[in-house]
Amino acid sequence: MLNVLLASRNAGKLREFSVLLPDLRLVLWPAEAPELPETGAFFQDNALQKAEGALAWWREHGTEPVDAVLADDSGLCVDALWGGPGVLSARFAPDLPDYRDKNHRLLAMLPEGADRGARFVCVLAFAPMKGHPFTVGGAVEGTLAFDHRGAGGFGYDPIFMPDGYDHTFGELPPETKHTLSHRARACAALRERLASSKN
Ligand code: IMP
Repeated sequence: MLNVLLASRNAGKLREFSVLLPDLRLVLWPAEAPELPETGAFFQDNALQKAEGALAWWREHGTEPVDAVLADDSGLCVDALWGGPGVLSARFAPDLPDYRDKNHRLLAMLPEGADRGARFVCVLAFAPMKGHPFTVGGAVEGTLAFDHRGAGGFGYDPIFMPDGYDHTFGELPPETKHTLSHRARACAALRERLASSKN
């Protein structure tokens, strides 16, 4: 089993990765480790930046051997906002600490009658201690609800209805999100890539 350092402190993501990647032993990014910068223009830049930053920090300060580092950059891209908040999803409305308020603000930004199409995107960067980093990705298409609905998931989940469902990710059971989410799809691509590199 590969020991993989997960370069994230986002509790929602951590919960999901532990279910989506049962074949990896995930080592958590320690509390004393620095916040990893994400200054890129694309999800891919940011995922690689975080993975490489974490790898460099772990080489100096790591407390146990790991085989690789995994970092995720993800976000919500809203058609009526020309793809925003996109890579800036974690930094949208910094004056509002609570996602219920952020979600209301985001919905209020949509002009009346606007196209409500949106997608969640996830790019994973996998950086082995020996070898070259690579990225895989996943996306899920959907529409924005008219209100914040449901207490499940995290972040923008309560306003996002995946295609084929009348409920938001905040209302659907986690098992449903785990079969079709952007992160689930990116993790499936990662599992496939790791399996094929073993052969
Ligand atoms: P970052 O990848 O650390 O830049 O943060 C991505 C941000 O996008 C998160 O803080 C959430 O606001 C949002 N996000 C990413 N994935 C999800 C998801 O699965 N559900 C809800 N919000 C998400």
